[in-house]
Amino acid sequence: MKRILIIGGGAAGMMAAIAAAENHNQVILLEQNEKLGKKLFITGKGRCNLTNACEMEELIANIVTNHKFLYSSLYGFDNQAVMRFFETLGVPLKTERGNRVFPVSDHASDIIRALERELHRRKVEIRLRTRVSGLCIGQKKITGVYLADNTRLEADAVVVATGGLSYPSTGSTGDGYRFAREAGHTIVGCRPSLVPMVTKEPWCKDLMGLTLKNVTFTLYNGKKILFHGFGELLFTHFGISGPLVLSASAYLGTGSETGYEARLDLKPALTTEQLDERLQRDFFRYQNRQLCNAMDDLLPKKMIPVVIAESGIPSAKKVNGLTRQERLTLVQTLKSLPLHIIGTRDYPEAIVTAGGIHVKEIHPQTMESKLVKGLYFAGEVLDTDALTGGFNLQIAWSTGYAAGCGTALHD
Ligand SMILES: Cc1cc2nc3c(=O)[nH]c(=O)nc-3n(C[C@H](O)[C@H](O)[C@H](O)COP(=O)(O)OP(=O)(O)OC[C@H]3O[C@@H](n4cnc5c(N)ncnc54)[C@H](O)[C@@H]3O)c2cc1C
Repeated sequence: MKRILIIGGGAAGMMAAIAAAENHNQVILLEQNEKLGKKLFITGKGRCNLTNACEMEELIANIVTNHKFLYSSLYGFDNQAVMRFFETLGVPLKTERGNRVFPVSDHASDIIRALERELHRRKVEIRLRTRVSGLCIGQKKITGVYLADNTRLEADAVVVATGGLSYPSTGSTGDGYRFAREAGHTIVGCRPSLVPMVTKEPWCKDLMGLTLKNVTFTLYNGKKILFHGFGELLFTHFGISGPLVLSASAYLGTGSETGYEARLDLKPALTTEQLDERLQRDFFRYQNRQLCNAMDDLLPKKMIPVVIAESGIPSAKKVNGLTRQERLTLVQTLKSLPLHIIGTRDYPEAIVTAGGIHVKEIHPQTMESKLVKGLYFAGEVLDTDALTGGFNLQIAWSTGYAAGCGTALHD
């Protein structure tokens, strides 16, 4: 009987423990928190968007970093397998807009409870309030772990499923990166992802709380388009947030020293010509008004002074006095309002961590380290990340399952 230690009782760690226990191994799950699945509990606004029911091709297209590395683990335990797994454990599921899968109950706690029941059924020993402080490695082989109380646990195999750095209050404090580095692994620069953006424009603060629906957001690095998407954007005291912005943040990369530029199309349903016609109609109707009072039909009130200031046209100018060029400048501003991105918010506001353990140093079928025998990694600690929609948890389930099965095969 082999002894397998799993570090981290999150999505990846619990799944790894369940898979590792299939072959009657002695499996011990070590979690520093007082309970399992603290982050899982807050996923999907407490409803847990546990996977996405789309076709595999689309699933892979939603993985931002290292999708090729994930092929075998995703095919080994795909979204359909995840859904079957939870339904078999007695959690009925439903699929919502965008193929997002949730428990019918809308309670993330049902997912955690089902995992806990399965861990008990498979006789996994759960040790809560147990923090691992380091790995024991001898001659390129794992031999156990050190605990924070200075004791040592022997093991034949160890799975590191300690998560990333985002929402550190859930226990994801980045310990796994240190363990991996000490084992000789390379860590690809970590940064917050699926995170709000900080903008240079002070006017964003004036619009705080305003949500724009049905706009397009295009993110550039120089002339290169990094992201182009349609949806909802929210202004905040520091810049911008909302689903569109969170998705765009996944493409920011580790760094452009000069920052990034974004363009907001406030009227994506209209072509430049259609928008010009629309402005002409509005300006004809309100011909005696000042410009600042003639755009109420077109824009939310708070947005009007921003667009006018950006166009450079005096806001007190009467619309019947506008030149054609001025009107076309307004059209241009409405179709391409510039925003300068000077950074993102930090880890406590980031849904995931981009970067992590270099996947070239990991066997993609089993998640075993290529450097240390018997050492496995799973979940967000790896250099993989995806867009919102259930894809990040799918990565955690799939890599956790692969690692658990890998330890069971390990000799
Ligand atoms: C607010 C929020 C909402 C989200 N919603 C969704 C969603 O709806 N759908 C989706 O797909 N993804 C969502 N995500 C992302 C998803 O939750 C993560 O990608 C996923 O939980 C990662 O799982 P993991 O097991 O790798 O890490 P984690 O869930 O972070 O688990 C790591 C565990 O390891 C433990 N640990 C760390 N270090 C040690 C140590 N030294 N010793 C012992 N234990 C240790 C931690 O306490 C923690 O419990 C959301 C994230 C956030 C922050």
